[in-house]
Amino acid sequence: MDAVPTGLFIGGSWRPASGGATFPVRDPSTGAVLARVADATPEDGIAALDAAVAAQEGWASTAPRERSDVLRRAFDLVHEHEDDLAALMTLEMGKPLAESRGEVAYGGEFLRWFSEEAVRIGGDYRTNPEGTGRGIVLRRPVGPVYAITPWNFPLAMATRKLGPALAAGCTVVLKPADLTPLTTLFLVELLRRAGLPDGVLNVVPSRDAKALSEPIIADHRLRKLTFTGSTPVGSALLKQAADNVLRTSMELGGNAPLLVFDDADLDEAVAAAMQAKFRNVGEACTAANRFFVQEGIADAFTAALTAKVGELRVGRGTEDGTTLGPLIDDRAVDKAAGLVDDAVERGARLVTGGQRVDRPGTFYAPTVLDDVQPGSDILTTEIFGPVVSITRFATEDEGIRLANDTEYGLVAYAFTTDFRRGQRLAERLETGMLGLNTGVVSNAAFPFGGVKSSGLGREGSHEGLEEYLESVYVLTPDP
Ligand code: ADP
Repeated sequence: MDAVPTGLFIGGSWRPASGGATFPVRDPSTGAVLARVADATPEDGIAALDAAVAAQEGWASTAPRERSDVLRRAFDLVHEHEDDLAALMTLEMGKPLAESRGEVAYGGEFLRWFSEEAVRIGGDYRTNPEGTGRGIVLRRPVGPVYAITPWNFPLAMATRKLGPALAAGCTVVLKPADLTPLTTLFLVELLRRAGLPDGVLNVVPSRDAKALSEPIIADHRLRKLTFTGSTPVGSALLKQAADNVLRTSMELGGNAPLLVFDDADLDEAVAAAMQAKFRNVGEACTAANRFFVQEGIADAFTAALTAKVGELRVGRGTEDGTTLGPLIDDRAVDKAAGLVDDAVERGARLVTGGQRVDRPGTFYAPTVLDDVQPGSDILTTEIFGPVVSITRFATEDEGIRLANDTEYGLVAYAFTTDFRRGQRLAERLETGMLGLNTGVVSNAAFPFGGVKSSGLGREGSHEGLEEYLESVYVLTPDP
């Protein structure tokens, strides 16, 4: 593997943090320290913003084809280094190698998609409705962007922001999560090799995200904040962004319902539910959090799903045959365990799992709970772990009511062979995305995002680009 950078990337070069502090990055499957990474200070954060501000005008005025070509070369480089990126991701985050390769494919798509979008930024020319005068609308990049990404998809969460921001002509300061910065740092090195001019992208890993971020967000030269992470942190960042009237894109928490109707194709529903629940060890904002299963199919569904759960192979992500890795840290294991214990105390039936795995690292056994009772914390909390929570329902109306009974609205999954029921669900479920007879919705070509407390804005598709563009309207007299 090429050397993995561990510094800050500011103004086109790698450097240590001012003061020289570093922090450790650990392998969650063993607890071993993998590397030490530069710990950016607030001064480093402002130096990164200085570089982004200095590069903004030049980058905004490059030919769209040039921006497109850089992104396309980055896409090619990501694929050339698929094995390295996947190995890094598995080491620092824990997911099985096959899933890490899946993330390289998915994350890379945002570079390709937005390299294609970069040359299709349009405008408008119209006659005033009164017939006199002409209006011209042009699109400009919003300006320097601060991007904060989470640890669970260290490649894709970065490309989902960098692709559209760079395509639009924005410069960026990126802060990766301190738990998984290595994949992102390697990606940044690939973007450098792809020909990104100095200062266009700057990266500042830091253990103290709050101290680093506050001065950047308060700086009047910053024009946009884009964040993926938890709803409480997103809400705190929105308050800070309000003081500076920043544009924001917020991809926040989820509490995804997964509805299985009596008329579902059982095998298809079970296979898709396994993906919706256990992909990324359940550590995804899109993970199915609450299973609602109609009474007529519930026994068969639970039995078939439990059989599939029994086939999962828990282990280090680097080991052959592993299909379920460790959780990210002890806190995540405690959280999953606490939610399971609470649900069982309130009357849920533990079908399988329900305990930590006795081996080094932060593992929790894949778990199925049936008959989860109203009032259980697991119904209102994002589990972020390999735990299936099943509640039974009788009618379509009841299923929809249960699904919508949450402050979140990122994604929903539904399994039915009745097309018109599918249409009703699409119109009535309070969600930004719906997987209809499928367990994975993420796709660079479509708008990813949520309603309610799950966030603001969309990533992917042409909508993702809009988030980094603003309109300027010019009124002119008759020609
Ligand atoms: P998670 O629970 O998935 O770790 P968080 O919302 O805590 O989600 O973290 C997502 C990202 O936000 C990470 O990069 C983290 O370092 C960063 N972060 C956490 N708290 C703050 C904060 N107060 N200000 C800015 N960034 C933060």
